[in-house]
Amino acid sequence: MRLAIYPGSFDPVTNGHIDILEKTSKLFDKIIIAVVHNVGKKALFSLNDRVNLIKESTSHIPNIEVESFSGLLVDYVKQKGAIAIIRGLRTVADFEYEMHIAQINRKMLPEVESIFVLADSRYFFVSSSIIKEVALLGGDVSELVPESVKVGLTEKRQLRLE
Ligand code: ADP
Repeated sequence: MRLAIYPGSFDPVTNGHIDILEKTSKLFDKIIIAVVHNVGKKALFSLNDRVNLIKESTSHIPNIEVESFSGLLVDYVKQKGAIAIIRGLRTVADFEYEMHIAQINRKMLPEVESIFVLADSRYFFVSSSIIKEVALLGGDVSELVPESVKVGLTEKRQLRLE
């Protein structure tokens, strides 16, 4: 089985992420979305919420699973028996950063290939951090995130206003 891992923070998942999944799910038998449990990075949504929001918004894609992981990505990829790591590219800055990560991952795990997919023109300016910033200030992000994420962000905004 040709398995790929799509790792990330997904805090929260956006339509940009979903677009990458819709495109790559046709190329592999199965994709595991691996939500990073990053102790050093303060997330808006808990790990559990991030996993559930992805599950709710990807139910239309049959061959994907959502998991969380901590530790070194290559160890996780190896343990799962995946053949590829998927990452999305929006800007030159993304490319610069991703290239370094991919090189070090290749050094540690040469048999696994990093696959880069270009962001859709509708979403190349969309990042989880921009979405959070705009939504928490009351901006409308409904065209850029799945419905469940929109609801989650509205709840977070309400909590902050109380
Ligand atoms: P990380 O903290 O690992 O960058 P993110 O959740 O921000 O996690 O992103 C996960 C992956 O999805 C990264 O490869 C990122 O470049 C990609 N990505 C994020 N937003 C978009 C988007 N709008 N379009 C395409 N790819 C995206």
